[in-house]
Amino acid sequence: MARDPRYDILFDQVRIGPVVAKNRFFQVPHCNGMGYRDPSALATMRAVKAQGGWGVVCSEQAEIHPSAEICPFIELRVWSEQDVPMLARVADSIHQYDSLAGLQLCHNGMNAPNLYSREIPMGPADLPVFSVFNDPVQARAMDKQDIRNLRRWHRDAALRAKRAGYDIVYVYAGKLFGGPMFFLSRRFNQRTDEYGGCLENRARLLKELIEEVKDAVGDSLGVACRISVDEMIGEEGFHAAEARDVISHLAELPDLWDLTLSSWDNDSQTSRFVGEGYQEPYVRGVKQLTTKPVVGVGRFTSPDLMVRMVKQGVLDCIGAARPSIADPFIPEKIREGRIEEIRECIGCNICVSGDHTSSIIRCTQNPAMGEEWRRGWHPEYIRAKESDARVLVVGGGPAGLEAAMMLGRRGYEVALAERGRELGGRLIHERRLPGLSAWGRVADYRIGQITPMTNLETFFESDLSAEDLLSFGFAHIVLATGSSWRRDTVARNMLHAAPLEGVECFTPDDLMAGARPKAKQVLLYDDDHYYMGGVLAELLAQEGYEVTLVTPAAGASAWTFNTMEQHKIQARLLEQNIIIRANRTLARAQAGHATLACTFTGREETIEAGAVILVTARLPLLGLAKALRTREADWADAGIKSVTVIGDALAPGTIAAAVWSGRRYAEEFDTTPDPDALPFRREVAALLPFDFSAVMAHNPQR
Ligand code: ADP
Ligand code: SF4
Repeated sequence: MARDPRYDILFDQVRIGPVVAKNRFFQVPHCNGMGYRDPSALATMRAVKAQGGWGVVCSEQAEIHPSAEICPFIELRVWSEQDVPMLARVADSIHQYDSLAGLQLCHNGMNAPNLYSREIPMGPADLPVFSVFNDPVQARAMDKQDIRNLRRWHRDAALRAKRAGYDIVYVYAGKLFGGPMFFLSRRFNQRTDEYGGCLENRARLLKELIEEVKDAVGDSLGVACRISVDEMIGEEGFHAAEARDVISHLAELPDLWDLTLSSWDNDSQTSRFVGEGYQEPYVRGVKQLTTKPVVGVGRFTSPDLMVRMVKQGVLDCIGAARPSIADPFIPEKIREGRIEEIRECIGCNICVSGDHTSSIIRCTQNPAMGEEWRRGWHPEYIRAKESDARVLVVGGGPAGLEAAMMLGRRGYEVALAERGRELGGRLIHERRLPGLSAWGRVADYRIGQITPMTNLETFFESDLSAEDLLSFGFAHIVLATGSSWRRDTVARNMLHAAPLEGVECFTPDDLMAGARPKAKQVLLYDDDHYYMGGVLAELLAQEGYEVTLVTPAAGASAWTFNTMEQHKIQARLLEQNIIIRANRTLARAQAGHATLACTFTGREETIEAGAVILVTARLPLLGLAKALRTREADWADAGIKSVTVIGDALAPGTIAAAVWSGRRYAEEFDTTPDPDALPFRREVAALLPFDFSAVMAHNPQR
């Protein structure tokens, strides 16, 4: 297919100092929970991005020195020559497809608690570290020698990056991760020397670091500066006007400006809070301050919006982290005129949860993300069928859709049977909840993909029974029948059902199906802790109910800390006058009253509640699976060779987990995995010589 000429501009080359990017698609640095622990998995993931056409593919942050490391988060390290081979593997993997490889050098300064290195963190002032977990660690104010050391460490790291084959290196002053940002921000920088006070002084460290890196490698590598253009806390922090002044002041010094918001939760906001292109008001006008290329992000998936960003002089390069995770092939799809095939990021931040939990990255839309090397999965390709087997997939939710789509791509003959009149499963209702409309893209993309497939047929209003399955003649049956919410208090904190009498009780399924309490005073009990409790509280408050959200956790939707939304959700609920009673379980309810128990002391209190919404746990819907199991003796005669339960029907979880489960089925179909073998590859670091005598030699006995 031919590319639409109006997108040609996206394929212009961009000069970044001494190097040239082949197009404007710029995969900005992003964490992935792999880093130094999973080097080959990381290299393969980046190679897929390069294969997908990104002109520049950057690393995550690469810690340049043990005086700033952010354990338990797993990033890259450029501490010594020992790190170079692994960094080179990543750069080489990116170069396979003519993309430029960028390394985001980073000294986290007072963001780093140094729990691994046990070095004392450093920052502009003697202050507690600004770390994710409020660690009981203080940073010390840097003196002039520290600043000289920091310059040298940047130089050395840049030279290592060059030896590892990178084309671009960063000086990082963004998101309150890059140490120089603590100097820029007046709330942290309380110095009175030439590195504190006026803005020019606060920008001095950043200027010197860029100069140092340019001097070291600027003849052959592009030197990028990543800077936050607003801390979004008003005049107390580094704000838009100051950012513009700094960029004007250093305008031509770096070879490229990469713009972010601070901190990360503001930079990578979810679709529940902002739409595509949300950073435009913050970055508009920056490009006019410099002749150097400017990169910005905003969950861009629409090529028309990308073109507008370039044509209106807002950005030179279209930066993307999450869109490139959800679909590493966005540039290629635009280039080849296949834009309807773009798998759009839904803005859920499940990818971020990988970093926050120090586990390998995962993505709701792209189940291959993080599995490229471990399992050999690819976001676009899958091997051809290995037999003429016919497969029946029961259930058109995320798991069933993914399994059917990928089996269809492999070339199998597939039937997808759905009890309802629509595909999408849980998403049919969930996408209508406040703020979740973009999540519907998970279904939309897959429906768009399967519709034209001639080897895949969809049957609606097919509420299948075991008898049906035995009579259809499919050799392989996949049950993706989903789950339903429990109608009691059994979940995490209480494993027994509390007595609930004299109040109306509702589950999320009831509310999503349109049922509503008669009483206006509603207690929502959330022992699920992900999004559902908060979203339903919001829905009911919008409809005029007086909502009290009770949770055994310390706040509303506590797990969304991992998607960087918890504080935003809590604020939104409070703004809607929802009362939040944290650290409490629901002991019982009776005649318009509910008794809550403190999770620490057990002390009880009673509040008025005419209705109770139970957001607790889910149960797999296994009726069909069980009915089929009782007829196992008839399977051979019916030609049934396998029955497999996937997705929420196997174990209710995230949408990402259901999609992944569907992919796994399609990937492993027609194979016989060895149940005793490891299900994926892992990389074990090479051992250095073991030398206990060296310890004793270092500590001679008297
Ligand atoms: P998952 O997240 O695992 O994909 P969902 O709950 O989103 O699960 O989707 C399950 C889908 O399966 C729903 O659309 C539901 O209507 C459908 N389903 C459940 N039982 C049957 C059945 N017996 N026959 C056909 N479809 C079914
Ligand atoms: Fe986008 Fe969600 Fe995938 Fe992250 S996990 S890239 S936010 S779809």
